[in-house]
Amino acid sequence: MLKLVGTVKSIAVTASRRRTAAASFSTSLLFDETQIRFKEGLQQFVQEKIAPHADKIDKMDSFPEDVNLWKAMGDFDLHGLTAPGMQSGQRFDRSNVKLLKCSFKLTFTAEYGGLDVGYLYHCMAMEEISRGSASVGLSYGVHSNVCLNQLVRHGNAAQKAKYLQRLISGDHVGALSISEPNAVSDAVGIKCKADRVDGGYIINGNKMWGTNGGIADTLVVYAKTDVSAGSKGITAFIVEKGTPGFIAAQKLDKLGVRGSGTYELVFENCFVPTENILGEVGKGVYIMMSGLDLERIVFAAAPIGIMQACLDVVLPYVRQHEQFGRPIGEFQLMEGKFADMYVALQSSRSYVYSVARDCDNGNIVTKDCAGAILAAAERATQVWTKTQRNQPNIYS
Ligand SMILES: Cc1cc2nc3c(=O)[nH]c(=O)nc-3n(C[C@H](O)[C@H](O)[C@H](O)COP(=O)(O)OP(=O)(O)OC[C@H]3O[C@@H](n4cnc5c(N)ncnc54)[C@H](O)[C@@H]3O)c2cc1C
Repeated sequence: MLKLVGTVKSIAVTASRRRTAAASFSTSLLFDETQIRFKEGLQQFVQEKIAPHADKIDKMDSFPEDVNLWKAMGDFDLHGLTAPGMQSGQRFDRSNVKLLKCSFKLTFTAEYGGLDVGYLYHCMAMEEISRGSASVGLSYGVHSNVCLNQLVRHGNAAQKAKYLQRLISGDHVGALSISEPNAVSDAVGIKCKADRVDGGYIINGNKMWGTNGGIADTLVVYAKTDVSAGSKGITAFIVEKGTPGFIAAQKLDKLGVRGSGTYELVFENCFVPTENILGEVGKGVYIMMSGLDLERIVFAAAPIGIMQACLDVVLPYVRQHEQFGRPIGEFQLMEGKFADMYVALQSSRSYVYSVARDCDNGNIVTKDCAGAILAAAERATQVWTKTQRNQPNIYS
């Protein structure tokens, strides 16, 4: 954990992003001192380990081969932020800075290696990773929240013992598969079937848009164990890479978040043993829907990171680039645009982190988890459009 609280250096210049200075913003209203130190440690980690690869990740449409980002994030304790880490059930006291100065792994006996610090911290990690690379942010979010956190919330002791530690360390990669060609917003309309057989279930069907699907070691997969029961006939299964009958088919070519692999997944007579049922048979819809609330709030931090990255690029540029004998940032019309960008970022940030704090307090409000990601994603699209319109030279 020491790694997370290292002294902050000024954000490094990355040639690929043409950042010459960090855009700094008030976070003191949102975060306490411990959280600010966590954020600073994260910024340094991302600038050193992730941002330098961002351009190549986008161009090559894959993670770098010479460095294992999954392990790097695991070594930095980022995968298990909402996973148990203390055998006694003791929770990390977020207000105690002194604790952070100790190595967590020495202070506490880690059960699975998680930090159990909650959704606000998970959002902070999602924001900073996405600020360095939105593609890494998407893959990270699917691994650490959509897969790993579902195992934390619904796995039994044997499943947690089997899967969590390697997902938290980054030795294994996680994915989750709900969507099908004709079941996307209509998630409970899935057609993928799981038929009961001796010792388990046989899964048949096609899934689409599975983030990390082609590289994942552990996948949470939803299928209908009782087609006639509609949404009440859905069951969640844990499927392991290499299970006969499970194939990661085509990798989809995307316009954005390139490098985060999105796959079609095919199940052809794929046998999954009974011990791999996540939760209870027929109760998959509860796992799915409650997971979507938490997924939305964690993923709402990604557009925050994207907005911050836009300002990181824009502000130094408009201070340097001159027209009519003055830096373009001094023109009042331009200043108005930066004010809009700043307010879009800060208002989204306030909404997202206040909902995350509520989630940590056990107050998970579906409409606000959805509202936060709607607001942040729409503002990020506007901020990105303004960035592109006003600084076209950066992208030429
Ligand atoms: C990069 C990426 C990664 C993804 N990763 C995963 C993953 O890891 N696992 C997974 O299971 N899924 C994944 N998905 C799928 C994702 O969950 C869906 O894209 C999402 O549920 C939204 O569905 P849709 O808008 O794409 O499609 P659709 O539901 O087909 O919607 C298409 C359009 O119709 C509109 N629409 C749909 N229903 C209605 C309605 N009732 N009323 C009015 N308008 C409606 C939608 O708003 C949208 O504009 C991923 C998708 C992408 C793009």
